[in-house]
Amino acid sequence: MSCTYSIEHSPFGTVEVNERANALYISVKVSIQGTVRVSAPRNTPTLLITNFLDSNRDRIVQFINNLKQKNMIKRVVFNPQTQFATRDHTLVMTCDDSARTERIRVAQGRIELTYNNDTDFESEYIQELIKRGIDFALKVEAHKYLPPRLKELAERANLKYTTLRIKNMKTQWGSCCKKRAIICLNTQLMRLPQHLIDYVIFHELGHLIEDNHGRHFHEVVNALCEGKEQLLEKELKKYRCSI
Ligand SMILES: [Zn+2]
Repeated sequence: MSCTYSIEHSPFGTVEVNERANALYISVKVSIQGTVRVSAPRNTPTLLITNFLDSNRDRIVQFINNLKQKNMIKRVVFNPQTQFATRDHTLVMTCDDSARTERIRVAQGRIELTYNNDTDFESEYIQELIKRGIDFALKVEAHKYLPPRLKELAERANLKYTTLRIKNMKTQWGSCCKKRAIICLNTQLMRLPQHLIDYVIFHELGHLIEDNHGRHFHEVVNALCEGKEQLLEKELKKYRCSI
């Protein structure tokens, strides 16, 4: 069983740290979205991880640049024709030639991008600006929706957790640290239909009983989601954690 959390690091931004019982040393991977992920032995002090990233900084930066050059870092391109909505917000892009710079605003159920005729939708800047707006909307929704939903489903299953953490994660929908009974859920869950959000919650609740993915764990989760675990898992695979 692994325990995952994230740290902020310059210049890599949010770095996911995966503590593994069987890891012998700290290692780094870069995902195809360009996210830096660290694998480390259990209870590695954050300072050691930060030092490791600092001392390997140039090599990691070079590796990311190589991926970018080979176009291996994928990004979804939003353009004015893109239709996109989250649970409570719709992306609306408006061309306003009096706007000197592009702006993103999240309010009243809308993620509003204002752009002008010079706006280059192929630029990383615009893509990131739109994603920031979407991430903000998802965060607002996640904080409103996930705490009461987790509470309700945990009560129904008669399971107790100590803390819910809500984070924007690139590679996993959720995680659970059984020892401390901490459940972590991804803000990106808000892009999923209700029954799949519930399924991810049931999966993490199952880890309060079993911290592995063994047979008993699946029996627990399958019972929690009324015998539909395999079906739901298959459906979940159609979605990616990051946009
Ligand atoms: Zn799991």
